[in-house]
Amino acid sequence: MPEGYCVKCKAKKEIVDAVEETMKNGRKAIKGKCPTCGTVMFKILGGKATAAASASESGEAQPVKPASD
Ligand SMILES: [Zn+2]
Repeated sequence: MPEGYCVKCKAKKEIVDAVEETMKNGRKAIKGKCPTCGTVMFKILGGKATAAASASESGEAQPVKPASD
């Protein structure tokens, strides 16, 4: 069983019902529950992450030209 930090117990706990998930950024994480209080725990693993992530942001606000008519 993987271990994670429970924010409610403020202690390291075993993660029960652990499910490995891959996040959007390609990193792997383990999602499960605290055996003591049942709080959802989330542990991010040091998985494969694109080192130099080419951030191609295409969210530029285009200037609106006032229609002078
Ligand atoms: Zn807990």
